[in-house]
Amino acid sequence: MKKTVIAIALPLAAMLAVSPLQAGWKGGKPGAGGGQGNTGSQTITAELSDAEATTLLFMREEEKLARDVYNTLFDQWEHPVFNNISGSEQRHMDSMKNMIDKYGLVDPVVDDTVGVFQNEGLAEVYERLIERGSASLEEALHVGGFIEELDISDLEDAIDESTHADVTRAYENLERGSRNHLRAFVGQIENLGIVYEAQLMPQEEVDEIVNSAMERGGKGRGKRRGGR
Ligand code: ZN
Ligand code: ZN
Repeated sequence: MKKTVIAIALPLAAMLAVSPLQAGWKGGKPGAGGGQGNTGSQTITAELSDAEATTLLFMREEEKLARDVYNTLFDQWEHPVFNNISGSEQRHMDSMKNMIDKYGLVDPVVDDTVGVFQNEGLAEVYERLIERGSASLEEALHVGGFIEELDISDLEDAIDESTHADVTRAYENLERGSRNHLRAFVGQIENLGIVYEAQLMPQEEVDEIVNSAMERGGKGRGKRRGGR
């Protein structure tokens, strides 16, 4: 199938002339000395494998899980951390949607209502987490920690699987956001005088994240290196 798509998109002569494979292109930025006029619109976007596509669609809904849980817990507890982070989760959802559109997939979020998921497993997790988070603010903050650990673990698997640089980059941005969210939730838990214990990830990995500084970047263009 893939072959057919490429054959239709590019006549053989053109393929031989600009084949990114021949030029040693590995999915990163096109090389500097590339052919003339080979601009964005002509870039060959290789299809995602079925596994990569499934993962992308899943991550879109997992970001919705995070947003929906935090919105619901904010309504309940009115703790600003939930409100702040739910806004970030909306951006994570948008980022996954961009990739879904780019690769011509069908968005699983057809109903954006809080708590509605196509993936039944995520729908169940939503119910379970809301139940837990309703018990106390302490439990609600732990639900935040749980979601971020889940997100980081799944994003790491997704990054390992991904063979597309743009998708990998999107996942990496989400993972950086998730580490910051985990820091925020654990900080709030510690403010209550409670020691946070890892819920899904190895404790030492959680400690390493929590004991390192908030990370910046990933919000847009500007590269903030060298402190300029
Ligand atoms: Zn997220
Ligand atoms: Zn998050």
